[in-house]
Amino acid sequence: MDVVSHAAFTELHRCDSARSPEHAGRLRVLHGAFPEYVHGTPATHEQVCRVHSPGYVAAIEAIDAEVRLDPDTYGVPTTSEAALLATGCAIRAVEIGGFALVRPPGHHALESQAMGFCIFGNVAIAARHAQDELGLERVAVVDFDVHHGTGNGRSGQGREDRTRTPRES
Ligand SMILES: [Zn+2]
Repeated sequence: MDVVSHAAFTELHRCDSARSPEHAGRLRVLHGAFPEYVHGTPATHEQVCRVHSPGYVAAIEAIDAEVRLDPDTYGVPTTSEAALLATGCAIRAVEIGGFALVRPPGHHALESQAMGFCIFGNVAIAARHAQDELGLERVAVVDFDVHHGTGNGRSGQGREDRTRTPRES
């Protein structure tokens, strides 16, 4: 299985003062473990806006200083670049049947709200890409964490014809 990632994940979206568990060191270790990874490319606005509002995407792109987007989630001027790249790698992984190693992660972010270290819903956006561009009727999202993947669950609502949403615990 091909691993999709990008060297820039160790440089972008860094906020060492935040002491966040979501930091560049995660990807540095993973790149060492999977040195043969292939590079993804940034997601487009059209792809991201299948799940997020255009105003939210613009607000993330407008971050020009260190900010707190929620208690867990910081934003810095390179956050949008990292988040678009993370989403693009997830999309590429769906296209090739691969596995994406990215940051920031992407299963908590809501339509217009960063949450739980997540800026964009990488997983939900990749699932929408699979349905809208690759012609897949049904997509299984297996989301494991210590709690409910808020963004993944909500992004399925309104499309129950094609999506079963998990229950919030
Ligand atoms: Zn989580």
